[in-house]
Amino acid sequence: NADVAMYQAKARGRNNFQFYAPSMTGEGVERLLIEAMLRRSIEKNEIYLQYQPQVEIDTGRLIGVEALVRWQNPELGLVPPARFIPLAEDIGFISQLGKWVLAEACRQMVSWQEDGLQVPKLAVNLSVRQFERGSVTLMVDQVLRETGLEPQRLQLEVTESVIMNTGDTLACINDLRAVGVGLAIDDFGTGYSSLAYLKQLPVQTLKIDRSFIKDISSDANDEAITVAIIQLGKSLNLSVIAEGVETAEQAAFLLRHGCNRAQGFYYSQPVGADELLAHWGRRHERDVAIIEG
Ligand code: C2E
Ligand code: MG
Ligand code: MG
Ligand code: MG
Repeated sequence: NADVAMYQAKARGRNNFQFYAPSMTGEGVERLLIEAMLRRSIEKNEIYLQYQPQVEIDTGRLIGVEALVRWQNPELGLVPPARFIPLAEDIGFISQLGKWVLAEACRQMVSWQEDGLQVPKLAVNLSVRQFERGSVTLMVDQVLRETGLEPQRLQLEVTESVIMNTGDTLACINDLRAVGVGLAIDDFGTGYSSLAYLKQLPVQTLKIDRSFIKDISSDANDEAITVAIIQLGKSLNLSVIAEGVETAEQAAFLLRHGCNRAQGFYYSQPVGADELLAHWGRRHERDVAIIEG
């Protein structure tokens, strides 16, 4: 129909595509259509996950994967999460979507294990809106029980805005720790967290935002910020991982400054579950063969 066609044209015509037409008439209709499509996306099997490896820089070992949600709609094409996650939050669909993502990813961890690939850790993103209903701990606990994944192998990623929310959210974070799952602060350095607060929080990992990593070798400020975050992690006894590592130089820089964990296109794009198994499962066999031979 016309509204969807307009959206598609816009999506094709620009890098920075948007959901909403600028015209007063099209706007409301188009939004409603896309909302309706999003609400039905799970039942229509349009939602799936990709997994991006996290590696130890000096050994190249797989230390974990981050699950990243995808929406492939027949009319809209592949919609990036930066577009539909905020929409899912607005229309109250994020809890349902978040639960689906967590359950699917946990099932996949168990399934890889059955196929002989032990992925040490699973990272899953949680939206700040998932904390507002207060039931996030129950949901996580239920999914872990149903799938049989050990809580220590799950790490939930939240942004600084979640961390700095007072009241309920902090109580939720403490409850989640009691369940035994780990917590990471995603996109660290881009938000507003107080260092004093950070010290008290039950968080184990800082993820350096990829905006700092991007120009590490050419921008003195980004270099200084990255080194400072690594140091901060050391002093607070937190593990630090860099995201958005795209080059060998960036990886070498991180290693030199005491950060031995990375995630980014230099190692791998996010890939499907089978591809991850094919690559890292085979790699494992090869390692074993080398040891035996
Ligand atoms: P994020 O959690 O910070 O995830 C990392 C994003 O960086 C991913 O984008 C990933 O594809 C991208 N990336 C990884 N390595 C590189 C690299 O070397 N260079 C560049 N330029 N990009 C890299 P993606 O998959 O589009 O996800 C964007 C954001 O959407 C995520 O950022 C996260 O905030 C959100 N998101 C994704 N999946 C979920 C989910 O299941 N639930 C929630 N609540 N949010 C999600
Ligand atoms: Mg993340
Ligand atoms: Mg991030
Ligand atoms: Mg990010």
